[in-house]
Amino acid sequence: METLDITNCDREPIHIPGSVQGHGFVIVVDEFLIITHCSENLNGFIDRAPSSILGESISWIEKFLHTSSTGPFLANIIHAAKTGNGLNAKNPYRVEINGKPFNLIVTKSADFLFLEFEPNISGLHNMRFDLGSSISEILSVSDLNSLYNRIAVKIKEIISFDRVMVYKFHEDGHGQVIAEAKNKDLKPWLGLHFPASDIPKQARELYKVNLTRLIANVFDTPARLLSILDPTRYPLDMTQLGLRAVSPIHIQYLKNMEVASSFSISLLNSDKLWGLVACHNYTPRFIHYENRETAKIIGQVLSSAISFREIQEDEHQKLKLKLKVDELAKQLSRTDSPADALIKQSVTILDAVDATGAVLIYDKQILCLGETPALPFIEDLIKWLETSNVPNVFETDRLPTLFDAAVLEKNKASGLLACRINRELREYILWFRPEYLVTIQWAGNPEKPVSIDKANNPQMSPRSSFDAWSDTRKLTSSPWKPEDMNSAAELRDEITFKINRKASELRELNEKLKIAYDNLDSFSYTISHDLKNPLSSIHGFSEYLLNEDPSPDETKMMLERILLSARKMNSMINDILSYSQAGRASREFSLLNMGKILEEIKQELIIGDPNRDIEIRIEEAPPFFGDETMITQVFSNLIGNAVKYSTESANPVVVVNGQRSMDGVRYEIKDNGIGIPKRDTQKIFDLFSRSEHARNFEGNGVGLAIVKKLVEKHRGKIWVESQQDVGSTFFVLFTNDTVDLH
Ligand code: ADP
Repeated sequence: METLDITNCDREPIHIPGSVQGHGFVIVVDEFLIITHCSENLNGFIDRAPSSILGESISWIEKFLHTSSTGPFLANIIHAAKTGNGLNAKNPYRVEINGKPFNLIVTKSADFLFLEFEPNISGLHNMRFDLGSSISEILSVSDLNSLYNRIAVKIKEIISFDRVMVYKFHEDGHGQVIAEAKNKDLKPWLGLHFPASDIPKQARELYKVNLTRLIANVFDTPARLLSILDPTRYPLDMTQLGLRAVSPIHIQYLKNMEVASSFSISLLNSDKLWGLVACHNYTPRFIHYENRETAKIIGQVLSSAISFREIQEDEHQKLKLKLKVDELAKQLSRTDSPADALIKQSVTILDAVDATGAVLIYDKQILCLGETPALPFIEDLIKWLETSNVPNVFETDRLPTLFDAAVLEKNKASGLLACRINRELREYILWFRPEYLVTIQWAGNPEKPVSIDKANNPQMSPRSSFDAWSDTRKLTSSPWKPEDMNSAAELRDEITFKINRKASELRELNEKLKIAYDNLDSFSYTISHDLKNPLSSIHGFSEYLLNEDPSPDETKMMLERILLSARKMNSMINDILSYSQAGRASREFSLLNMGKILEEIKQELIIGDPNRDIEIRIEEAPPFFGDETMITQVFSNLIGNAVKYSTESANPVVVVNGQRSMDGVRYEIKDNGIGIPKRDTQKIFDLFSRSEHARNFEGNGVGLAIVKKLVEKHRGKIWVESQQDVGSTFFVLFTNDTVDLH
């Protein structure tokens, strides 16, 4: 069994009620002009049993109609209707039945034609005469609220119903009376809210098709439509029919309100049902077709006036925020620090959205403006936003119901508008609003749509009390408007644009730097190469002069100095040459047999100085992809240094060990030599940079600079851990990146 719930109303097929309101009658004909349906109240208007005309031709009914036209009146109209030419424009047709005036309204639905006969009487004068002046009077006001009031007052004047309300639908579908004109003796309903279920979804759809709707007499018994067709197989869609009967639930709803007659004019904004002009009369009241049509025109004019004015007011607010976002964009382009531009200048992120507090989480900083919760809250909130997978611009006016910690911060953070700048870096802009205690005056208790009958069974019947029923909404902020969200999204675009531009500027700079480095390499290569010639002349001539045994001694000493300097300079030039050449040759990557390479280096070192008393131990030597020449140079420099700087230690030992890990292949070259003072562990990798601590050892500070350059050519890393006078360990990591390079 289906559970009883007000949303059941949503499924009631109100467009095929199978009956009509009793103040008129309906005849339906098919495409062969055969009468297929007829309302059972026919004999109240024409002296014939309804069942007797079913299956007859339409010409049968002609004899009961008195019209000013000659010839087959209905057949002609139907012919026009079938060709679809201007059916509505010609409605209504005046006919007389038994001496009484009727309006005949002809409409088409699928293969059927409806002939609706309505009495042409009304207590009201023809509204059309007032149309022009009424509309201009209504439109003469400047602000929206006055416009709504004018609408209510003027419509009441025209149709003289007891109560006329302008009823607006909110985003969640519930409605509110935003303007009212009523008889003095009635209780005011201005400001009352009505739950969305009061006007179910399909009824709202019908209001979009039928722009006016009259329920002439709530106490009237509807007249069933009799048919020669099986209604379960051929349900008749009566959407177009003005006389369409009303859902029993809605009738009960109106009765509970003590309303006897209701008339509504739909107000549309684009293709959305914006609201209704809802008119109630406490005695039955009929409005004839032409006046309903005039009301429809008023409704259409009002709809466009309302949407125009709403757009105007929204545009004003949008423009205000847009100017702020534009200013922020300018500030962003004037400084290199987005945080400064957004927080510290004349316009801040707090101006870009209508909020009481704002927080910028950017570049590992949390910067707050206005009324904001404490930092730990903000950090947790960001984590929650990440795990909740919210969209880039996210808003809620009920944060405490989603994120528990906000209950304690309700005075600052009941409403949140969050705008993500960068997901990976967890960068956000947050705007907050405090709790805003909204007391909603419902027309009756909206939670109790179901009533209990005498036998104690729940009844699907609308509530019976419409006395104002208050419901205070706590832990809620005022709702965010689309303008706020737009503004947040635009600001986000500006910021990401700025950040992206900065990133590409950096990339460009990097490129330039690379070129500059390459140029520097070729420059030092050229210079050092060109210096070699004049230097060898200096060297050659000084040697020649010295061999000539010059006197006095001073000249000899000077020549010796020149010779020494020339030798030193020559060795430096060689170093610069080898540095600038390091890694110049094109890289040939292969899987390196490190065991073999290390063994050869070891042998060379031993052969180079067989008297040296040192142990060189090679442990694990995992292979990796690299250029054999460069990698040999790297390890022979590192192991060479380890040997050189530990020769003076007691029992010198150098250990080379490699390991494969998640990051790649890592080698350690460990010695128990002189070590490196902490302050020098970085600078020793620079060209010509030596530690003072190594002054007793020969060298010119080029080896490690070359090693670093070669390791970086392999996209690897090098670093050292050392303790002065205890020993050093150099680490070289060849990442998986390197492996991909082959
Ligand atoms: P050089 O050894 O010719 O001076 P390097 O560029 O190879 O040039 O080394 C730079 C400096 O780093 C050395 O002068 C020395 O101070 C320090 N250094 C390098 N390797 C070691 C090591 N294994 N132990 C101690 N100091 C070292």
